[in-house]
Amino acid sequence: MRLSKAFQPTLKEVPAEAQIASHRLMLRAGLVRQTSSGIYAWLPAGLRVLRNIEQIIREEQDTIGAQEVLMPTLQSADLWRRSGRYDAYGPEMLRIQDRHGRELLYGPTNEEMITDIFGSSVSSYKQLPKALYHIQWKFRDEVRPRFGVMRGREFLMKDAYSFDADYQGAVNSYRRMMLSYLRIFQRLGVRAVPMVADTGPIGGDLSHEFLVLAPTGESGVFFDAALEEQDWLGRPVDCDNEEDLAAFFSSVTDHYAATDEKHDEAAWAEVPDDRKREGRGIEVGHIFYFGTKYTESMGIEVSGADGTKFSPHMGSYGVGVSRLVGAIIEASHDDAGIIWPDSVAPYKAAILNLRPGDEACDAICEEIYGADPENFMYDDRSERAGVKFNDADLMGHPWQIIVGPRGAKEGKVELKRRADGERFELPVAEALAKIGAA
Ligand code: ATP
Ligand code: MG
Repeated sequence: MRLSKAFQPTLKEVPAEAQIASHRLMLRAGLVRQTSSGIYAWLPAGLRVLRNIEQIIREEQDTIGAQEVLMPTLQSADLWRRSGRYDAYGPEMLRIQDRHGRELLYGPTNEEMITDIFGSSVSSYKQLPKALYHIQWKFRDEVRPRFGVMRGREFLMKDAYSFDADYQGAVNSYRRMMLSYLRIFQRLGVRAVPMVADTGPIGGDLSHEFLVLAPTGESGVFFDAALEEQDWLGRPVDCDNEEDLAAFFSSVTDHYAATDEKHDEAAWAEVPDDRKREGRGIEVGHIFYFGTKYTESMGIEVSGADGTKFSPHMGSYGVGVSRLVGAIIEASHDDAGIIWPDSVAPYKAAILNLRPGDEACDAICEEIYGADPENFMYDDRSERAGVKFNDADLMGHPWQIIVGPRGAKEGKVELKRRADGERFELPVAEALAKIGAA
C-alpha cells in the first residue's frame, strides 16, 4: 500500500477520553474509531490486525479437529426461554422486537443456538465427538464500557462448543482446547497464562481463563514462572491419544496459577520463591466444561450403543478476538507507539522514502515496494523525515526500511527493527532477505 493513497488517519493529539496506552495508541494510529459508547468501527490497518488474529485462531482450531460455522448475531428469545436463560441473563442482553412483535436478542454468546442446531441434526452416539466454532460479533450492554476495545459493548469473539458422549470424552475435548489456546497465544506473540477459574455448580477443575500479563489488567495474577517458559508449538501432542493429552494437561495444571479471585495462599507458599510471579493480567480467553446443563434443559438427547437415550456433555471455549488487539498492544508498546509481533502486524515493514523526487531514492523504494506491495506500507508522502519516522514508530511495523539519498547512490538502505531499535545498513537484496521478504 502507498501511504499517499491509504486511509490511515493518525492523530497527533492524545485523545482525552483514553485512559490506557492501548486505547490511546489504537486511536492515534487510526486502527479504530468509536461510533457510539463501546461500539467501534475498524479502519483498514486495525482490520488487518483483526484478520491476522482470526486466521491464526482458525488454523489452530482446525488443527485439533474443530470445524468452523457461522451463526447469526440475532437470536430468538424463545430459544433462550428453553434453557431458562432469557430471564436470568439480565440487562447485559440487548432485547429487540421485529415488526411482527416477535422478540429477538443480539447474541451475547451462543450456547443455546449451537445446542439447538446440534440437537436437531445428531441422533446417535456414533456421531460424537464434535467440536464447532465461529468467529462472530457479540453484544453485551456492559454497565461501564471502557479501555476502548478491551471492554466494548459490541465485540468480536471466537466461541467454540464441544459435544461428547461422556465425561471422559469431554475431558479430552477440554484438554485439546487448552493445547489449541496455548498455541494460538504463542503464535500471536503474547504470553497468556492459563489460570484456574470458577466452575460454578459443576465443580471440578475444568475451567481456565487465559491472561495476558500487563500492568493495566483488571485482574491480579499469581503464577509459577514454569508456565511462561514453555514452547507449546514445539511440543508434539497426539490429540487422539488420551494418555498423551493427560500428560500434556498435567504439565500445565501441576504449576500454580490463579487470579486474585481464586488465589490460595497455602498453595502459593509451596511455589519456590525464585519462580513466583505476581502482577496483573487481561483475560483474553476462557475455556469451560459445563456437562449436560444445556443439552438437558433444552431436551437434547442421542441414543447410546444399547439404545438408551442420553444428553451429551458440552464445553464452551471463548477467545476475545477484538480485546486481543488491545491486549497485545498493552503488552507490547513503548513511548513512541505500538510494537507489533510479526504474526499480527498489519504490514511487514514500512518503506520510508526520505527524499521523494530523488531519482535514486525513488528507484530503490519502487524496487523494494514491488517485491511485496501487499505487505509493505510505502511512505511516499512529501513529508519531512521526522514525520515519517514518528508515524512508522507509532504504527509499529516490525521493520522500517529507510531509504536516503546517500545510501541510495550505493544501492544501500538502512533497516531498523522496531522492537529493539537495532539498525543495519545493507544492500537492497540483503535487506529484503533479512526481513524475510526476498
Ligand atoms: P469479563 O470477565 O472480562 O467480562 P467474561 O467472563 O464475561 O469476561 P466470556 O463470557 O468468557 O467473558 O467471553 C469470552 C471472552 O470474550 C473473554 O475471555 C474476553 O476475552 C472476551 N470478552 C468478554 N466480554 C468482553 C467485552 N465486553 N469486550 C471485549 N471482549 C470481551
Ligand atoms: Mg463479562
